[in-house]
Amino acid sequence: MDAEKTSPHGGLPGAALTGSAMDALLGDPAEETNPVGRTAVLAADERREMLAEGEKLLDAVVLNAEFVPAGLGGRFTSVPRLAEVLRAVWRRDPSLGAGYGFSSFLAAVNVWCAGDAAQRRHTADVLLGGDRVAVAFHELAHGNDFAQAEFQARAQGGGWQLTGRKETIANLRRARALVLFARTGAAVGSRSHSEFLLDKVELPAAGWCDLPRYHTSGMRGLQLGGMEFTDCPIPGTALIGAPGQAVEIALRAFQITRSMFPAVCVGSLDTALRITLDCALERRLYGGTVADIPFVRSTVARAFADLLAIDALASVGVRALHLAPESTAVYASASKFLGPRMMLDAFEDLRAVLGAQGYLRQGPHALFQKLFRDAAPITFTHASRGACLSTILPQLPRLARRSWLSGPAGPADLFDLDAPVPPLDFQRLAVGMPTTDGVIGALAEMAENVRAPGREDPLSRLVARFGAELGELRSRCAELSPSDLTMDAPAAAYDLAERYTVVLAAACALAVWRAGGERHPGRPDAGLLGVLDRLCGRLPGAGVLTAAERASVEAQLFDLAVARFTDRALFDLTARPIPG
Ligand SMILES: Cc1cc2nc3c(=O)[nH]c(=O)nc-3n(C[C@H](O)[C@H](O)[C@H](O)COP(=O)(O)OP(=O)(O)OC[C@H]3O[C@@H](n4cnc5c(N)ncnc54)[C@H](O)[C@@H]3O)c2cc1C
Repeated sequence: MDAEKTSPHGGLPGAALTGSAMDALLGDPAEETNPVGRTAVLAADERREMLAEGEKLLDAVVLNAEFVPAGLGGRFTSVPRLAEVLRAVWRRDPSLGAGYGFSSFLAAVNVWCAGDAAQRRHTADVLLGGDRVAVAFHELAHGNDFAQAEFQARAQGGGWQLTGRKETIANLRRARALVLFARTGAAVGSRSHSEFLLDKVELPAAGWCDLPRYHTSGMRGLQLGGMEFTDCPIPGTALIGAPGQAVEIALRAFQITRSMFPAVCVGSLDTALRITLDCALERRLYGGTVADIPFVRSTVARAFADLLAIDALASVGVRALHLAPESTAVYASASKFLGPRMMLDAFEDLRAVLGAQGYLRQGPHALFQKLFRDAAPITFTHASRGACLSTILPQLPRLARRSWLSGPAGPADLFDLDAPVPPLDFQRLAVGMPTTDGVIGALAEMAENVRAPGREDPLSRLVARFGAELGELRSRCAELSPSDLTMDAPAAAYDLAERYTVVLAAACALAVWRAGGERHPGRPDAGLLGVLDRLCGRLPGAGVLTAAERASVEAQLFDLAVARFTDRALFDLTARPIPG
């Protein structure tokens, strides 16, 4: 470990960033002269360029250091903190967030999980030196179907020879290094691919070329590139881990990256809700404001509740990497499945409030259409929602039999979002099937407590509803047959996996509210009822709240949303003040 600390960039300036520090750095979005304000963000999108001034600012605070473990001279110590910092960037400009650095982190995590000391040192130096690392996994022809990846690495002498194409890879052209997924064996199965760490500076020029940039409808500033290799020699030291280990390494790294996606991307929904309120409170129709229309007030309240639900699920998910790594193989995919769906649904609902204002590329609310376009890829990049469900499905029978309704709740700090987390141990992220589920354990505990007679209040009824759903899921998942757990599983089996994600989100919200104490400003009672009511709506069967109860919760949530808008506070679970 000492050798790992020897870095030419040792003594890196600056303390670890926080979400507040990033917000302060980005400044008031409405300020016309702010080089990273709303106007500049929109102009860069129109030019299909990265926000150059934003990249300069992030360079100045060495954002890359946040991706490098502290033991290697960087500042990466906590996934929740990193997610909070990146969420602040996403609130301003998702293209900047993805294009500046998140893709570097997605790549580097593979090296932190399985690289040797020299590879770890090199990756750290590339990042601390201000360069990017790309993660070249996908081939357009095969998408999520990694097992079919054709890109070949053939053993040659002591090294390897690369042939094939990688496409739609973020920052590929401007990255200095890349983590590459390649076929190294002919057999069908999970041991036929390997990962490599390449430094483009060291590649022979005749062995590779860049492909033209791929253009997209959202994230238009993000440079999606491709590369073609022809018999390109690389040294044996480029191999990460052992031959045939790529799927295993990726499965470990994906637990971190899939967990982070919703935790980070939900930032753009915060801004979208702010834009919607800005429009609804000021625009006049029928002799009042748009915000006077009951339908609009409910829509805003529901989107606010959805944002809180995504935050609870994602926040517990990133904390679990530190505090319950034995279970994150299932939490990460659940979070990547449900968070993005809820986020895009909320965007769609808010668009119904903004109407034409949310579609126009000019005017005071033009940022909305850019954020919506930028948000779209969250459902399919990295891993599609279907692929996430197919990862969850085989894990359910074992969890149902061994853990649900019998296993204990996770540690208290898992749900206390203000508690520090212990160091992340990459090796503890299990590749096999989890057998414990402490988040569901917390729900089971709470459901047991509301069984007492006379508990008829809305919260108790909602807890009981999710407890009953867990009971049914347990019976049905325990009975799944082996053919229900494969890619060819019937839709009914996928439905069970989806219902698990909803119950998991409810468990996260309940446990986070319980841990936050009575009067946490970011966790109002109406927020929890709204979250559970919205999640209930994603389950089969009737809702739990009466029409009058729902109207009351939504009225309170709308007022809370307006208060946070007026006070310039975040809509998420922190309710933290922001500049402007
Ligand atoms: C903005 C952006 C940035 C990107 N950056 C990178 C990058 O840096 N590195 C990189 O390697 N790639 C990158 N990609 C590629 C991207 O991650 C892949 O395109 C994607 O993961 C592969 O999915 P696909 O959309 O081609 O879907 P496909 O795999 O073709 O799937 C099509 C559909 O089939 C269904 N399906 C697929 N698999 C399953 C399953 N297992 N179970 C059930 N249903 C399933 C789903 O409905 C899915 O939507 C990027 C793409 C974009 C748009």
